[in-house]
Amino acid sequence: MSEKITSRQQDYSQWYIDLVRSAKLADYSDVRGCMIIRPNGYAIWEKMQAALDAMFKETGHVNAYFPLFIPESFIRKEAEHIEGFAPECAVVTHGGGEPLSENLYVRPTSETIIWSSYRKWIQSYRDLPLLINQWANVVRWEMRTRLFLRTSEFLWQEGHTAHATSTEAEEEVLRMIRVYKTFAEEYMALPVIMGRKSESEKFAGAVETWCIEAMMQDTKALQAGTSHNLGQNFAKAFDCKFQTRDGGLDYVWATSWGVSTRLIGALIMAHSDDKGLVLPPKLATRQVVIVPILRGDKEAVVAKAHSIAEQLNQAGIGAMVDDSDQNSPGWKFAEYELQGIPVRIEIGPRDIKNNICIAARRDNAEKVQIPLDNSLTDTVSDLLRDIQENLFDRALAFREEHTMEVSTYDDFKSNIDNGFLVAHWDGTEETEAKIQEETKATIRVIPEEPELIERYGMKDPGTCIYSGKPSVGKVIFAKAY
Ligand code: AMP
Repeated sequence: MSEKITSRQQDYSQWYIDLVRSAKLADYSDVRGCMIIRPNGYAIWEKMQAALDAMFKETGHVNAYFPLFIPESFIRKEAEHIEGFAPECAVVTHGGGEPLSENLYVRPTSETIIWSSYRKWIQSYRDLPLLINQWANVVRWEMRTRLFLRTSEFLWQEGHTAHATSTEAEEEVLRMIRVYKTFAEEYMALPVIMGRKSESEKFAGAVETWCIEAMMQDTKALQAGTSHNLGQNFAKAFDCKFQTRDGGLDYVWATSWGVSTRLIGALIMAHSDDKGLVLPPKLATRQVVIVPILRGDKEAVVAKAHSIAEQLNQAGIGAMVDDSDQNSPGWKFAEYELQGIPVRIEIGPRDIKNNICIAARRDNAEKVQIPLDNSLTDTVSDLLRDIQENLFDRALAFREEHTMEVSTYDDFKSNIDNGFLVAHWDGTEETEAKIQEETKATIRVIPEEPELIERYGMKDPGTCIYSGKPSVGKVIFAKAY
């Protein structure tokens, strides 16, 4: 077993680091800001990739791969883009021992290298839409890093689509942010608020950025995914025109969207506890661990444990048996709790006699007796569904408890450490910057969820909590990762 994990209450940041390292999810590397994703962490990423990839394909996208290096002249073509990204870029100046004739940027995102290809591939409306996704690594020279949440090199997927009309591009932006919301809620059991970013928080080079925003257990916000409407900005920068259906010539409309290994950090921070990782069953590599209690007729107990595992595996539930006699059952319980396996099944000689086993839930430590008969797989499968739902409900209840509306700046300041604040904002960057300077809180999202809009009167006019000027609606402020 690994060293003890600091409790969340004692020090939430330290708890997170202790957990990531004890559960062997990731480790620091000797390279500044870069982490090593260990097998336990990578397994979660593979599960996420598989689910997301299937969703991208269902919505008509295909995968491709573009170069890691971007010629400096490409990245400089879109003015806002280079302005936003230049300070975060790693640049290669030498190759083969010689200075390069043109510097190469390690991709911080691939719009520019991709649009230099789209320009060659798109001539007519018949070539559109082009719906490509890439699974890759990117590098952003982050100043303050945190395992998974913000690293200098990270793994992600980036979708880059090209469309004949602005309406189609807008539809795509929404389609993909909804895919992310569905993934976060149904697979990660993570409730998210979908909506738009303010001008100052949007992607460098985008017309509009949509995002999903989640609350962590310390009530801070985490941006979990983005979908950008790039308008014709990149098509203009790369002179990518196409012949329209009615014989005219127009610039192509673009979108891009991405989620990264940050989602693993979100998963940990949203559900895990002082004993270790808590994984939603849909993203756990193994849903069940069976621990035989080795007493009496040990062979019979081990054989029964394996037969239960086989029964579960055949039903598509990932189950493993730990029948090693080197570690005590207590040690094993703690170890698999640390690893976040959703259900532990205990079975001993007395249980076999009674034709039952004991299932312990990782999410709430409840124990139930399960009969050892044909109903076992259905029972376990129901249990897993229940755990998945409970994690979502618990996270949602927590977010609701920590979301409040404020109408004065004093109220804002005294509550900003307690979660999401719904408040009127005058819509200016100046007010946003002042609030950030004074409280460290930012506008996380301008929600576009009908239920929230109605509940908080998000779109009702009012008065800005900071400037006292008219406001066209409320937004959500929070301190964020
Ligand atoms: P962006 O291209 O800035 O919209 O970011 C795309 C996705 O990558 C978002 O979902 C971000 O949450 C995530 N992301 C951005 N920067 C980092 C980072 N340094 N480490 C991990 N994930 C990141």
